[in-house]
Amino acid sequence: MLDVDGTLLDIAPRPQDVVVPEELRDTLTHLARLFHGAVAFVSGRPIADIDRLFAPLRLAAAGGHGAEVRSTAGGATRQYVPALDPVLKRQFARIAMLGNGIIVEDKDYSLALHYRLAPELGGAVMNAVVDLSERAGAGMLEILPGKSVIEIKPRGFDKGSGLRHLMAHPPFAGRKPVFVGDDITDHAAFKALPEFDGVGFSVGGHIPGTSFNFDGPKHVRRWLAHLARDDSGALR
Ligand SMILES: [Mg+2]
Repeated sequence: MLDVDGTLLDIAPRPQDVVVPEELRDTLTHLARLFHGAVAFVSGRPIADIDRLFAPLRLAAAGGHGAEVRSTAGGATRQYVPALDPVLKRQFARIAMLGNGIIVEDKDYSLALHYRLAPELGGAVMNAVVDLSERAGAGMLEILPGKSVIEIKPRGFDKGSGLRHLMAHPPFAGRKPVFVGDDITDHAAFKALPEFDGVGFSVGGHIPGTSFNFDGPKHVRRWLAHLARDDSGALR
């Protein structure tokens, strides 16, 4: 189970600019075959966005931080929560008017404000997000600070619940999950791993509960390519 941004793919200045290397598509196709379909993306991006990035690949996925889950490659998607309220989205999107370089990413189930291009505005964005969240209703929204990004999502679902939903269905049910992730939103998935006797690997900095840290996405891709070449049958 693989987080996408910052784990499989190098982070780009704007989320729409990330690049999927052609070898990665080949590697994932091969791995999905080796694992009988038990290879999944676990991302904050909605599944439609993941499919667009990795086209023509349509692997299993937990998208929108677990808001929607597709347990089989190319199969039906189950939606567990509605999209974030459009009025709230518009209010949070207006925070981008604080200055040039703040990019709004509508992720259907959440909204992200990226300030990678305007790092000096990070504090102001956070203040505005906290103010608006408090006005929206105490405890209703969760604020997720990431790498030059602040994300707002309703409580009640996360990558941990997404991982559990994947594990409840074939081809994942009964397997030991391996999850790789790099950011705060991945902590919930790492926390769910012991329930399934799973293993977690972090990227770009050690995260509690993980047993290995990759230096960066390039190193994750290299490891996966190595796994995909395994034809000993040990992985199946
Ligand atoms: Mg990530």
